[in-house]
Amino acid sequence: MPKLASYNGFIDSIENIKISPMSRAFLFSDSVYEVISFYQNKFIDFERHLDRLKHSLDETKIACSIDECSAEIKKLLNESDLESGYIYFQVSRGIDSIRSHFFDESDCERFGFIEKFSFFNQSPLKVMLVDDIRWQRCDIKSTSLLGNVLQMNDAKSMDCNEIIMHKNGQLTEGGASNIFFVKNNKIFTPKLSPNILPGITRHQVIKIIKQKEFDFIEGTFDINDLKEASSIWFTSTTKGIIEVKEIVNLETKINPKCELLKVCKEAFVSKYFS
Ligand code: PMP
Repeated sequence: MPKLASYNGFIDSIENIKISPMSRAFLFSDSVYEVISFYQNKFIDFERHLDRLKHSLDETKIACSIDECSAEIKKLLNESDLESGYIYFQVSRGIDSIRSHFFDESDCERFGFIEKFSFFNQSPLKVMLVDDIRWQRCDIKSTSLLGNVLQMNDAKSMDCNEIIMHKNGQLTEGGASNIFFVKNNKIFTPKLSPNILPGITRHQVIKIIKQKEFDFIEGTFDINDLKEASSIWFTSTTKGIIEVKEIVNLETKINPKCELLKVCKEAFVSKYFS
């Protein structure tokens, strides 16, 4: 079956979808998005993804019915024969007659596609610590990802598959994931702020940590905390929970046999993927 996509509610194979070059998504990255995973034909935490999409739409003042988005995302899954994967869905401010920074009322433009993906057996990551050069509203899931893209590709040239970003030494998040670390048998993660995306997987993992009654702190942490960490993990919709095996430009005390990580990972897989 060819890759299926949806454009303003019409489903077709992705090769047949035609998008105007006057789309504000194309001209300005004036668009927001979600990546929603599904397993055994069922979405994982669908409503929470929709709530975050609504937050992104409201904060960017893109007028679009969340019910329409919800229906179109569900339709993509229903029309596909895939059992495990994710749906990428973006909403732009629509198509302009001229390329103007000033926007007026236009119909939003919705585009999504469905992709096969296996969530298991992902290898530990080699990462690079980099400056967070992004804008100040990273809580909005905007398609403007140039800061992430540039830093991640610098890291790739050092054979890394992810980055850990910091603002003046203060940890924010990964290039496409949230970060957790373990120190003295306590689990830590940067608290929510406009500098990080409120990850859906972050929320799921925190729920597990609280259920297990592990020592846990959401706060403000810096590079020195990472130097002392015995385990560092990323969380995201496609990664689930993945550990860091090495930070190429920082010496750490990572121990690959972290018991807290093992328990959280097992609980996560059993809750969402069984
Ligand atoms: N932070 C950033 C910058 C991301 O791109 C992502 C992945 N979309 C995440 C965190 C993790 O979010 P989620 O768990 O909702 O996939």
